[in-house]
Order: sequence, then C-alpha cells, then structure tokens
Amino acid sequence: MEISFHNKRILVTGAGQGIGRCLAKKLAECHAEVVAISRTAKYLDTLKEEVPQITTIAVDVTDTENATKLIKEHGPYHGLVNNAAIAELQPFFEVTPDSFDRLFNVNVKAPILISQVVAKTMIDNNIEGSIVNLSSQASLIALRDHTVYCGTKGALDIISKVMALELGNHQIRVNCVNPTVVLTDMGKLGWSDPKKAEPMLNRIPLHRFAEVDDVVNAIIFLLSDSSKMINGVVLPIDGGATAN
Ligand code: NDP
Repeated sequence: MEISFHNKRILVTGAGQGIGRCLAKKLAECHAEVVAISRTAKYLDTLKEEVPQITTIAVDVTDTENATKLIKEHGPYHGLVNNAAIAELQPFFEVTPDSFDRLFNVNVKAPILISQVVAKTMIDNNIEGSIVNLSSQASLIALRDHTVYCGTKGALDIISKVMALELGNHQIRVNCVNPTVVLTDMGKLGWSDPKKAEPMLNRIPLHRFAEVDDVVNAIIFLLSDSSKMINGVVLPIDGGATAN
C-alpha cells in the first residue's frame, strides 16, 4: 500500500525524540508538510539538520497560550498526532498532587487543547482530517507503579472516543494507538530492568516488545485515507498482550 501525504500538513507533538521523531521523519518521506513541536530545542535542531523541510517549533505543550498561538500560525492542518507525553513511576501510596498535575497536564489537557485548535483549522478549511492520539497498553491493563500514567492513558482513550463522536460530523476522524513497551527513553524508564521486562515479555504472545516502526506504521495508516472509515478505535499494538 503506497501512502502519500502530498500537499497535506501534519502536526506531530513530542517530535524531538523517540516515536514522535521517527514519525516526523517517516511522514516527511511520505511527502507530508510536517510541523514538529517539542520541548527541547536541541533535538529539534538535529531533526531539522537531518530533514530540512520539516518545520520545527520548540515549545512546551503545557504552555498553552504560546503553544496554541504558534500552532494556529502554522495551520491549517490535515492531520494531528498527539504524541508528547511524560511518565513518572511511583507506588500508589507515593503518588503526589504535583505528579498527578504534571502528567495530566501533558498527557491529557494538552491533547484536548491542541486538538481544539487543530480541528478548528480543519473545519474552517473544509478539510477531512485525522487525529491520532498516542495512548498505551497502560489504559487497558494495570501496571504496577503506573497509577497516574495509566490514569492519563485511560482518560485519553475515552476522550478520543468523545472527540470521534463530536468531530465525526465535521468529517474529522479521531483514533488512538495503544502500544506495548517500546524501548525509547520512556520505555527504558519502566522496562530496562530484566526483572521487570521478563514478566511483561511473558505476557506478550509474540514474546517481544514493539519496535518504533510498528507504532509509526499504524499511525501513518490511521492518518491516511486508507483508513477513511475507521473512527473512534482504540488500537492495541502489543503483540497480543491485552488479548489475554
Ligand atoms: P520519549 O520520552 O522518548 O519522547 C517523548 C517526546 O515528547 C520527547 O521529545 C519530549 O521532549 C516530548 N515532550 C514531553 N513532554 C513535552 C511537553 N510538555 N511539551 C512538548 N514536548 C514534550 O517518549 P516515547 O517516544 O517513548 O513516547 C511517545 C508516546 O508514546 C507517548 O505518548 C507515550 O506515552 C506513548 N507510549 C510509549 C510507550 C513506550 O514504551 N515508549 C508505550 C506506549 C505508549 P524532550 O525531548 O524535551 O524530552
């Protein structure tokens, strides 16, 4: 299946590192006009060096006023990937109000506010758009020490379905992808210790973690017209981990 995003502008948040960075590069290969937002400028600088046609914006997605202003200035958009997120691990009794606020601000509040701005540009320009939210297997199965992170991803799943319901009227599709562990910096935080990794691997029928490309390819499919009747799904990319 040949996918081209010729003449289509797609915004990717958290594009400095990990899954978002690979996605931005792959979208550019598929001829998309990529707008890449991330927190740390130095990672965006090297992305720009590698792929000069990508537009980069260094802004924290929780700096709502600046982020939404810059996003508006670079629109309109045909696609959005809400990928930026943070994880902090603590046992249930050690969850703090600050940690709760940090995670919900980045992982839940920012995707809602950014999607409002982007979807408005789609509606104003009669664009049949696609929004993909990066959720996780953490919304579907309980993970030790992940109280708040699991909570943010569970919230994102149902928020995505409500968005699919309300934005569908405007021919804007909204879907989630829910990967198992991917050994990016975030993935290593929770799963580089073999004592933690082994039980998780044993839970996955394919007995391996996901590669970045496994996630990127699914997102590209959901952004493209090849999935034009798919709306409101929560799509595990987990080798069957959540099937058992
Ligand atoms: P990484 O930590 O490797 O990369 C996350 C990127 O998001 C970084 O570039 C980071 O910026 C950016 N970011 C974080 N917070 C903000 C913010 N406030 N404003 C702007 N940018 C921000 O994560 P992954 O690539 O592993 O994860 C990508 C997505 O996939 C996340 O939504 C995650 O929850 C999800 N996911 C990941 C899994 C995994 O095992 N890795 C499994 C399931 C889901 P900076 O460069 O400054 O750090």
